[in-house]
Amino acid sequence: MNANKIDHIGIAVNSVEESSIFYRDVLGLEFLGVEEVPSQKVKVAMFKIGESKIELLEPTSPDSSIAVFLEKKGEGMHHIAYSVTDASGAVTELIEKEVRMIDKEPRPGAGGSKIAFIHPKASGRVLTELCEH
Ligand code: ZN
Repeated sequence: MNANKIDHIGIAVNSVEESSIFYRDVLGLEFLGVEEVPSQKVKVAMFKIGESKIELLEPTSPDSSIAVFLEKKGEGMHHIAYSVTDASGAVTELIEKEVRMIDKEPRPGAGGSKIAFIHPKASGRVLTELCEH
């Protein structure tokens, strides 16, 4: 599958504005921008840390999976994302290996990326994202 680095760590938050204060002003991470990702019903703020990023996720709709997560667990770490060169090839490979997938094919993610999630039951309950830029 050729995952080559941690692309980002996704963190569920109630408000990207409020949570940005910690990452920008306390940790001093470089702020890369905010965007809405309609396919995931979230507003996303990105911070750069070395070759990786921190992704803050705020729901934009009550039926967003992030809204459901916040209701059940509150704010906190949501997923880990691995960078891959070919998301669609990686998904095909995992399906062939009978790995349970949330996404049977990549969908649009933040920053024009293609993303696909592995089901947490297949990854030791760590929600895992594949991310191609
Ligand atoms: Zn992500």
